[in-house]
Amino acid sequence: MKRLALRILRSSGLFALARKTSAGMARILMYHNFSQGDDASNGAVSVEAARQQLAYLCEHFQIVPLIKLVEQLKSGKPLDSRMVALTVDDGRRNFYEFLFPLLKEFQIPTTVFVVSSFIRREDWLWTDKVLWLAEQPLSVEELHPDKVEHFFARMNRLRPEKRNACIDLIAQRMRVLIPREPPAQYAPCSWTELRQMVDSGLVEIGSHSVTHPIFSSLTDEESWWELTTSRSQIESGLERKVESFCFPNGQPMDYFPLHLGQVERAGYSSAVLTHFGMPCPGSNPYALPRIGVGGQTNFLSFRKYVDGIEHYQAQLTSAFW
Ligand SMILES: [Zn+2]
Repeated sequence: MKRLALRILRSSGLFALARKTSAGMARILMYHNFSQGDDASNGAVSVEAARQQLAYLCEHFQIVPLIKLVEQLKSGKPLDSRMVALTVDDGRRNFYEFLFPLLKEFQIPTTVFVVSSFIRREDWLWTDKVLWLAEQPLSVEELHPDKVEHFFARMNRLRPEKRNACIDLIAQRMRVLIPREPPAQYAPCSWTELRQMVDSGLVEIGSHSVTHPIFSSLTDEESWWELTTSRSQIESGLERKVESFCFPNGQPMDYFPLHLGQVERAGYSSAVLTHFGMPCPGSNPYALPRIGVGGQTNFLSFRKYVDGIEHYQAQLTSAFW
């Protein structure tokens, strides 16, 4: 029914109208994982779907580096029409393998936010460990597909040491050993691959912290360490300046206003979040909302979000409820 309503909206020209009326607002797209086929585990976007999305963006929007979009936002002037910036979180290798070839083909700029301890192969992402545990044949009740979101919500509220202990305890209960190195689908890019992408002139590498903690679970000293240490580790790994930051998880409960100031004082020029929105002149460059795109996002939904229908729908909802 929802899909039918969307089709009617599209054929009535409302998508094009929404795109036109929202042209002065920017879109920052947020991706995480990519795959060759239709393997939607990990919320991966297939190469085929990514190609269709990029072709649509090239036809109807102006795809710019995130840094350029932020510069315009900070200028206080109206934004260029229909600006879109692409971002990819975490730094898994499937970005290099599956999306980077498309970026080169379409000549599209992208910002990749990497977790520095992950790239340094000191550890793999705790969120991926949970997903890996959930995939095991004899997984536990709380990691059942219907309950895993609730489990993540619970983990997000814990201090990092408690959270890690909880994940280890689940592995013990399942009698499995979490591998020291991540399995292929959760593997990170290497420094060489990141440098190669940066040298292409298409990819900017930003920071996504050292250990992917939820900032609201940290002390002020710990969040400062995450911001400054990740920045220096990435800068020394790439020999490039790091400008942009991405809050781990990035939902309203996951950071406090003081963290936005910390990001600025640590020398970053912007920070992105994960909740939905479209930045416009006056938006805080240290709290930029994004549009999430995953394997479950079909092309019609993708258009609904990037064309602006979702934005107007959200405004209507908040006006009436
Ligand atoms: Zn992340």
